[in-house]
Amino acid sequence: MPFPSTTLEHFADPLVLRGEARILGVGAWKGTPALVLDRTWFYPESGGQLGDVGTIGDLLVVDTQVDATGVVHHLLGEAPPPDLLPEVTCSVDRARRRLHMALHTGQHLLSRALQEVAGAETVSSRLFGSACTIDTDLESIGESRVAEAEALANRWIEDDVPVRAWFPSEVELRSLPLRRAPSVEERIRVVSIEGFDVSPCGGTHCTRTAQIGPLTVTGLDRAKGKMRVAFLAGRAALSELKSRSDELVALGKLFTTGPYEVRQGIEKLRGSVKEAQESLGIFRAAHVQRLLERILARNDELSADRVIAYLDGETVETLRAVATKLGTIPAMQAVIGVGAFDGVTIIAVKGDSAPFDAGAWLGRLAKATGGRGGGRPERAEGRWPAGADFWSLAQTP
Ligand SMILES: [Zn+2]
Repeated sequence: MPFPSTTLEHFADPLVLRGEARILGVGAWKGTPALVLDRTWFYPESGGQLGDVGTIGDLLVVDTQVDATGVVHHLLGEAPPPDLLPEVTCSVDRARRRLHMALHTGQHLLSRALQEVAGAETVSSRLFGSACTIDTDLESIGESRVAEAEALANRWIEDDVPVRAWFPSEVELRSLPLRRAPSVEERIRVVSIEGFDVSPCGGTHCTRTAQIGPLTVTGLDRAKGKMRVAFLAGRAALSELKSRSDELVALGKLFTTGPYEVRQGIEKLRGSVKEAQESLGIFRAAHVQRLLERILARNDELSADRVIAYLDGETVETLRAVATKLGTIPAMQAVIGVGAFDGVTIIAVKGDSAPFDAGAWLGRLAKATGGRGGGRPERAEGRWPAGADFWSLAQTP
């Protein structure tokens, strides 16, 4: 026999999170053991709000779901004992539910505030723990507008106005200034934040706005071409702000300053890095010039326009800079390398008038050595494996 639909106590008072119920059935929901009760204080997942968790007697409730006939299934952490008594005490995880209520009510407030301040309509919203987002219909919203909306929402929280949820008659429903159209056709539930917002919603909400606690916008991003506002409320907002503040204090300690001097510390550091980079650039250029002169001086004794050089202990960056200089000499044809234990980095380069194809030459040798490399006729780069004989390979015609 099918169960009658479960009486949902949160409709009457969302702040009551404990009560006595009678077990109507023991079964399973998609493979997880589950209980059906005559009434429940557990909110079943729907409308973007997660199902409640808590305890029924000594049993752990890990999720709450509702089926198409309105029967609520309390999913259990383990199968119930066979001698389970029919009368049970239900207890909803208070902290988690109160957070969901704060986030839900906060979302109504912020959606309304975004509409008033920025003309942004809420297309959809998600309220999953620490990732609460409102997707708007706008392609851009200024950060200052969002900050204004955040401030407006917080003013309504401070004013501690009543929040009411009820099922209006059809006649009353038609007279209500709903912010958006309902997503269901029957038993439309309406949530009003007195003097500010009226919208259809089936979730659990605070009964006064001050219960929301602080509301903070945590991000403003583009998603699917439209602006997405991320926010937190209640204890989730507090803990996020606390963790950001702790991070800033820790950063301040790195600069041996307080949190308000971190920006100054970073700017000072940037200045020092820039200065160091400039000095390093000058030093590098001089070093490359000296290396080049040394290579060319040694080369004068051999052949003026053919260079083979191994830059012992130099970096690949230095090798590249030397190669660039060599490439500006018109008749030059050069093969230079630097090495480490795991192989040799090679650059072959030529001047405008040298009869040499650096790319083809290096490609051929990469194949012969089992290394890699190739490039344009003017310049090519590659690697020869560890143990390759640089001097004899570099002399290959
Ligand atoms: Zn809601």
